Amino acid sequence: MVEFEENSNQGFISAIHGTLIEVKGLKEQIRLYDLIKIVNHNILSEVIQINKDTIIAQCFESTSNIKLKENVIDLGQPLSMELAPGLLAHVFDGIQRPLELTFQKYTEGTLKKGLEFQPLSREKRWHFIPKKKLNDKVLGGDVIGTVQETKIIEHKILVPYNASGTLSFIAKEGDYSIIEEIYKLKKNGIEESLSMLQKWPITKGRPFKKRLPPNKPLLTGIRTIDLLFPIAMGGTFAVPGGFGTGKTVIQQNIAKCCNADILIFIGCGEPGNEIANILKQFIENIDPKTKQPLIDRTIVIANTSNMPVSAREASLFSGVSIAEYYRDMGYDVAIIADSTSRWAESLREISSLLEEMPAEEGYPAYLPSKLSSFYERAGVIKTLGRDPSENEMQGSLTIIGSISPPGGDFNEPVTAATKRVVQGIWALDSKLAYLKQYPAIDWLNSYSNYPEYLKEWWNERDIKWNEIEIDWFECRNQINEILSKENDLKLISQITGEINEFENQNFDLFMAKIIRNGLLIQNAFTEIEFYTDIKKLLGIVKIMLLLYKQGKELKKHEIYIEDLLDNELLNKIMNIGKSIPNEDFDKIENIKRELFHKLNSLIH
Ligand code: ADP
Ligand code: MG
Repeated sequence: MVEFEENSNQGFISAIHGTLIEVKGLKEQIRLYDLIKIVNHNILSEVIQINKDTIIAQCFESTSNIKLKENVIDLGQPLSMELAPGLLAHVFDGIQRPLELTFQKYTEGTLKKGLEFQPLSREKRWHFIPKKKLNDKVLGGDVIGTVQETKIIEHKILVPYNASGTLSFIAKEGDYSIIEEIYKLKKNGIEESLSMLQKWPITKGRPFKKRLPPNKPLLTGIRTIDLLFPIAMGGTFAVPGGFGTGKTVIQQNIAKCCNADILIFIGCGEPGNEIANILKQFIENIDPKTKQPLIDRTIVIANTSNMPVSAREASLFSGVSIAEYYRDMGYDVAIIADSTSRWAESLREISSLLEEMPAEEGYPAYLPSKLSSFYERAGVIKTLGRDPSENEMQGSLTIIGSISPPGGDFNEPVTAATKRVVQGIWALDSKLAYLKQYPAIDWLNSYSNYPEYLKEWWNERDIKWNEIEIDWFECRNQINEILSKENDLKLISQITGEINEFENQNFDLFMAKIIRNGLLIQNAFTEIEFYTDIKKLLGIVKIMLLLYKQGKELKKHEIYIEDLLDNELLNKIMNIGKSIPNEDFDKIENIKRELFHKLNSLIH
């Protein structure tokens, strides 16, 4: 935590409105977003308004015992994250207090407000391996050495962005704490001592060399997503859905299964038991690739519904700053935030305390710009710093946020404003959820702007079957075509009251039913089905589209496969998702062969 001196800038509380305090007496050097501290309670607050004689600050803890005239002190800096080894596999609150230590206080019975903890341990020693030599020249962002932070992740020790120069000292390989000197930089005759620890203000994006277009998917193992509404590494997506439609399940599933190197899960204003649940899963679940618990690549930021609303915004931006730090090491980082609506609600609450002129439904007029300041921190980037061999590095930050529109109404302000800034939406539908057709991703209202960018990546990994030579992109087109025909027919039947009995349309409905049941519906809780890898996904889709292609062909000869195919084979096709594990791809190929022979025998 921040120390302060005797003669520092002091003031006193002149009014209290909910979590906001009005302060008088601070000198004019105070800046927006600087932290101030209520001295007797150790409570931190952030300056959000500076008036002629007063400033307004939002407190990160409950103001219930605070009295008028209590002293505050200007800490002269905005809320900053501590960045160094010791972040991974830990849980922090919105202002980076480690919950482990809070829990310790709780069990000791000494838990009270205004706890001051150092976010990262000063005692723990890390095994540092230098990657640079004496007299090497380094710039901000360069990798100076490494520390194996967890079994899975190597932490690159980066030169802070405000430093550069010639190495006049670098520590030998060995164990050091994050505050011990491990190198010195000399520039213009001035020598600076540096340790592994650096800080970064959460409201400011970390610099990078340039943005790059996205070119690989963040794979989720959820078929509807990876095929129809894919998200790219470095992309932005939102998951709007009414209560109980499966937002949390989808996000937790992605958090556990996705192919990002590092995952930051932010529980923002959601119930504490849900965060406890996901934490338990991270600890218990083993990453199949590395055979280590998932928590080793994860950081959890918990701002539960019973914590003060003013820390909600901080929890999101804290997560983003930590994510950018790992991105700058050259990693693919993903942020999952559940739920951004709780943040928007906190903005509304604070705005109304400030008596600002409300815009739609009481939300402040700056809601859209706030939302975009969060999502715009995502992207694929070339880092400013270089790896130890002086090569450029590339990293990405993906952001997925859930939205909980009241009554499931997607026209409400938070959903509407988010849609304008994100590149894709998985819209969850209450009707599908009610019918237990999970994931309840509504094919009509969802979209993704990424397929074009991901085409090539998928092509390089295609399973290439001679019987049906179409790539991932074409598979998407055809599945979309079938689902849109189904939708048209539904509309017509709503208008005319009946479905026309043309064979044509029967076949499309027949195909749509197979796709919905065998491809889109996917149980997030079964061992075989919760994660579908890309080979299995392509296998399922291509088998269905082989049926589609041949079916259309046969119809020209007045052969109707929807009447001719036996149920056993159809069931086999529809149950691939549920019954065949990813590893048994040969079994999927067998089904393809069986179908191909069957269709051929119908022709001859
Ligand atoms: P929300 O966060 O939108 O309020 P949840 O994610 O908590 O909703 O989901 C509510 C319930 O729906 C879950 O407890 C679970 O029983 C069911 N559910 C949601 N998604 C799935 C899924 N993909 N597979 C199986 N069940 C699901
Ligand atoms: Mg939820």
